[in-house]
Amino acid sequence: MKFHFNSASHFLFSSLLLFHAGCNLPRGGPEDPRVVLISVDGLRAEVFLNPQAHGFGENDLPNFRRLRHEGAYVKEVTTVFPSHTFPAHTSMVTGELPSEHGIIHNRPFLPDRSFDQWYWWADSLKVPTLFHLAQSKGLVTAATPWPVSVNGPFDYLVPEIEPASGDSLSTLDLVRQHDKPPYLIEYFALFGGLKSNEEAVHGFQRDVNLHRIFKTVFSRRLPHLTGYHILYPDDAQHEYGRNHPEVRKSYIFADSLIGSVIDLITKLDQWPYTTLIVTGDHGHVDHHTDIRLNVLLSDSGLVTIENGRINGWDAVSHAAGGAAFIRLRDPSDDYIRARVRNILTSKAWCRLLEPSDLPPDLHGYDRADFILLAEDGYNFPGDLDPPFKVPHSGGGHGGDPRIASLRTTLFAMGRSIEVGTVLDSSHTTQTAALIARLLDLPLQTEALPPAFFDSP
Ligand SMILES: [Zn+2]
Repeated sequence: MKFHFNSASHFLFSSLLLFHAGCNLPRGGPEDPRVVLISVDGLRAEVFLNPQAHGFGENDLPNFRRLRHEGAYVKEVTTVFPSHTFPAHTSMVTGELPSEHGIIHNRPFLPDRSFDQWYWWADSLKVPTLFHLAQSKGLVTAATPWPVSVNGPFDYLVPEIEPASGDSLSTLDLVRQHDKPPYLIEYFALFGGLKSNEEAVHGFQRDVNLHRIFKTVFSRRLPHLTGYHILYPDDAQHEYGRNHPEVRKSYIFADSLIGSVIDLITKLDQWPYTTLIVTGDHGHVDHHTDIRLNVLLSDSGLVTIENGRINGWDAVSHAAGGAAFIRLRDPSDDYIRARVRNILTSKAWCRLLEPSDLPPDLHGYDRADFILLAEDGYNFPGDLDPPFKVPHSGGGHGGDPRIASLRTTLFAMGRSIEVGTVLDSSHTTQTAALIARLLDLPLQTEALPPAFFDSP
């Protein structure tokens, strides 16, 4: 897919000129407090706690080391349940658990669409995010990109959105449809060196393109609050597992992008006003076998699968990698409930929990009749092709956030941060409380910011 510039109208060039020349589009005051929140997808705490055990040399991640030495560091950040990308990112900017903020999974519970949709749309949020609060206060907001951002409260937006199966639009088409201001992406295609083909939306190239957009938006518009999501390390860990050379490469790549952000803030003389926060949404665990739960349920007639799609169900799995949520069409149907319990009890590959057994750390998904936690080495994908049990090695997440390798970490540097502070632990919701405090936003959360401020 290529960009189509023959539709370039007077309006398009007007928009580009406005962005380029700086007229009429919002800009943060150069001495206003600002926060850059970088989420490195799948950033594992264990890599920093014990680099040698995970294939890293002393000098492999110099920019993370610089953040730790010149700023503050939380060794382990516990994420939410399910430990999935969209729920975790939303907790990071709301201070609430998924059941409260409404993003309970990467994908909404739509079995009749075979779960092919994602929570792309900000309309799904049940509580305001920091971006909403910032915009209400007249601050300038940016996402380059951020999950659950389409139609969200952003002055500058590269949305996270991809086509569902059967959509005729490409990822680039969708991004261009929802970017803000309109034609932001065309601007970069024309002036920013953005590669205008499908390679632009995958792997390293996607992160390189997003990095260019982040840098341009930040340096020209000085947003007060920017969310910036680096994605490739998660892709690499899913594909290869935790300790593969490609994963090491992906972390070194993320480190170099962060170094470039540090250099940009330095070049713009923005450190007195800017706090840079670098964290992750979850870690990763390795697996050797996939368990396709809807295929198993279909073997007992509880799900009907035709042509690779779900077209009927009495009990269905909403799979989340390291966990799965089983829902009954009729929760009062004790016969179906007993059959499901019978199918899933005493399996070597899972622990079956009922909602009444759920410890507080596993609250998050709003309504499930059964909750499955994958045992070590197993993974629950959403695939619908038989057989139900398939050898497949790689990495994943989604499961119990108390698992050590699912923990992430957090670095903060710059304005208001006490240099050299090291904390043992925090929770993803506390990151939101930290940013609310830095920008004086009225966030309603019980989470407290990690204690590393340089003044009381
Ligand atoms: Zn993620």
